[in-house]
Amino acid sequence: MKASGTDHLTRSKRNRFTSVRLNREVELRDDSQWVSDTLKNPKTRLVPLWRSRSLLERGDDGTIAIYLSPDDLPEPDRIQPPTLLGSDGEREYFAVSVTDGQKDIILEKFPAAKFADLRRASIYMAAKHAGILAYAKALHYWQHRHAFCGVCGSQNLLRSAGHRMVCSNEECARESYPRIDPAIIVLVTHKNSCLLGRNVKWPPKQFSTLAGFVEPGESLEDAVVREVYEEVQVQLASIRYVSSQPWPFPASAMCGFYAEAVNLECGSSGEVDEARWFTVEALTQAVLADEVRLSPPVSIAFRLLADWFRKNGGGDLEELVRKQRAMKIAAPNC
Ligand SMILES: [Zn+2]
Repeated sequence: MKASGTDHLTRSKRNRFTSVRLNREVELRDDSQWVSDTLKNPKTRLVPLWRSRSLLERGDDGTIAIYLSPDDLPEPDRIQPPTLLGSDGEREYFAVSVTDGQKDIILEKFPAAKFADLRRASIYMAAKHAGILAYAKALHYWQHRHAFCGVCGSQNLLRSAGHRMVCSNEECARESYPRIDPAIIVLVTHKNSCLLGRNVKWPPKQFSTLAGFVEPGESLEDAVVREVYEEVQVQLASIRYVSSQPWPFPASAMCGFYAEAVNLECGSSGEVDEARWFTVEALTQAVLADEVRLSPPVSIAFRLLADWFRKNGGGDLEELVRKQRAMKIAAPNC
């Protein structure tokens, strides 16, 4: 009998940033001699991060992740210890935070590259490398936001090749681990329609699935029910988990759901100022008329919507969005 979990694994693997095929080598994180030797191995690759930005280069076929050899990183002893990400079977990858001075030297060596925002760039990037950069970015963010102990205020020290912190005050010695904020994201449907909302902070015309952080004392499903009611006052009849996605912007794990509404009644809130039901045909027309703009295809929001769109006879939503973009470029004043 086919295990039901396989289906979710397959679905989640289609989400951007999940394709990290690295062996995380958990058992080697505390072997300081192995870590030190591996960091000197010329085959090792360093994933540089400067102010949470990744080193990227635009190529003919999309965006390329630029990795450094150990020799490429100037003054390696002056930065915090590199963080072991893992092995792809050929080499080890480490994330490194670089200083302003190191950044300038790196850019002199790689003049076509720049430190840029991963979220936007990852649309046109090979899945393996988008995953490695997202993994590195998530650890970098945690390390920089937890530089001091939350109990006594002393400096935290990185341990376990960057995956654990220990308070430097020996009387305290509090340990902390990478923090992830779970969030739910849900496409609400009713019969042949889906519900999209416009967040008040978004640009005009931008619509997406509903989403929110899971609060203490809630299951993921509780959070879906609460968020949907808070944002658009829709009652749900059923909820179905679909897939998940790491989302290091800055530190979320997105848990994706479909939910069936009791009826088509909906409202708005301080967070979502407009909510609209769309059939496949209505969404197609709204996108082609540039009345609605959707989340980027890297997001699980887009994936949930695209799968619903295809299953309901709408075809390839990415193709539709490409058409919208092409029409906007052809008619910039419209
Ligand atoms: Zn402490």
